[in-house]
Amino acid sequence: MNRIHIFLRLALVSVLSSVLIFSADARKKSGPKYVFFMIGDGMGINQVYGAQNYNQTTGDGPQFINFTQFPVRTMVTTFSSSSLVTDSAASGTALSSGVKTYNGAIGLDPDHKPIPSICVWAHEKGFGTGVATTVGVNHATPAAFYGHADNRNEYEKIANQLIEADFIDFAAGGGFITERNTGHDSKYFEDKAKDAGISVFYGRDQFGNLSSQKGRVICVDTNYSSTDVNFAMDQQPGETTLSDFVAAGIDYLYGNFKKKGFFYMVECGEIDGAGHNNDAICNIKEVNDFAKAIDVVLDFYAKHPDETLILITADHETGGLELGDNYIMHPEYLYGHKKSEGEINKLFREFAGVGPDRNPLPNRRIPSYEQMQAFLSEHLGLWSTIPVSAAQEAHFRDLYHRAFVLNQTEMVEALYSVSNRIVSDAIAYADRQAGYIWTHGGHTGSPVGLYVKGAGAIEFMAVTDNSMIPLTIKKVANY
Ligand SMILES: [Zn+2]
Repeated sequence: MNRIHIFLRLALVSVLSSVLIFSADARKKSGPKYVFFMIGDGMGINQVYGAQNYNQTTGDGPQFINFTQFPVRTMVTTFSSSSLVTDSAASGTALSSGVKTYNGAIGLDPDHKPIPSICVWAHEKGFGTGVATTVGVNHATPAAFYGHADNRNEYEKIANQLIEADFIDFAAGGGFITERNTGHDSKYFEDKAKDAGISVFYGRDQFGNLSSQKGRVICVDTNYSSTDVNFAMDQQPGETTLSDFVAAGIDYLYGNFKKKGFFYMVECGEIDGAGHNNDAICNIKEVNDFAKAIDVVLDFYAKHPDETLILITADHETGGLELGDNYIMHPEYLYGHKKSEGEINKLFREFAGVGPDRNPLPNRRIPSYEQMQAFLSEHLGLWSTIPVSAAQEAHFRDLYHRAFVLNQTEMVEALYSVSNRIVSDAIAYADRQAGYIWTHGGHTGSPVGLYVKGAGAIEFMAVTDNSMIPLTIKKVANY
């Protein structure tokens, strides 16, 4: 065991003992019946307040992001057993079971031994359980609440574990993620779930009568081209949103478990994706979409204020987002940026006359530099609302020359996307001018916020590490 490891273990033991002492003093007679545990994947402190800065400057979004006003606000560390910088699997496991594990592990301790999650604890005491996410139902964060795998990428093993997990009453997400070369798609596992007696509902139009629905339920959206729900800023009216999943879960869980109560984990999974893509406005719109889903929970809270506990946190920070460049921020510069990086890339491909395989289309017309400027102005606000420096202008002219005169298409790879260099550099420049500065495309070890409201909230004031959250919920909710 190395020195860091020993230090971290000692630190954890000391914070754990302090919360136990604190909790013993402040123990309440009865705990909350309805617990909402809401996780913004990749939602560091700066993601939250950067979104709030944008909303307040532009009026485009709530002036105060609802959970920043919760009465209990603290910070938690997120390190895993293998690194000071966690991934979603290890932090998901810490958040679901109170056990620190290695990056990549789902529901296993560092010795690869399966560990039960808070959903098992709640189920064994008779509570209903639910998990919902905007990404695949077997993606790392939800998986940590029911699955056990050495590696988070064992998607089909985890999909089968969800189908077998009779302690999960309700699950919702974009679909089942499958592995390459198995020939399976989401529908394969949806059908398998049906064969196992689980009712599967497709899209918000089918989520209407879940309060009287008996037996286990899985809800997916109707975007069959992806197992992710579309980014909030790309969604068309009528598409299934995180709020729809949250409302569906509440209807079902309250309908079936109103007497005893329920535990409901909700993940906003794509704050992380926008962070990996270094796409500030997309990140902001995801945080605002998460806040909208939390509004649905707050409506429930208003009806059951003495029996409801709401916790908002994150599994880690993504992108190393800094706010402000040398004392300056211009959040309003992002207002002209109307689509996610992926969608702007699709438009840019059409504009550049190349197909999805990046080969030139027949009868391709080469756009002029001025037309490229007009494109970046229309979709990102460059030159119209965002001033472009002479040095940056020279850089764009150079990129134009390489792409359209020398025909050297350059692509930039992020964890979940590949982007044309021109689009990627234009978004990076726009974000930097706005004061949203990404320092890289991965996770960081920054602490994240924990925001708590409702019955038992005060017990979380002493929580300092993510692994203490489920243990404290267990204590206050009597699991
Ligand atoms: Zn990530």
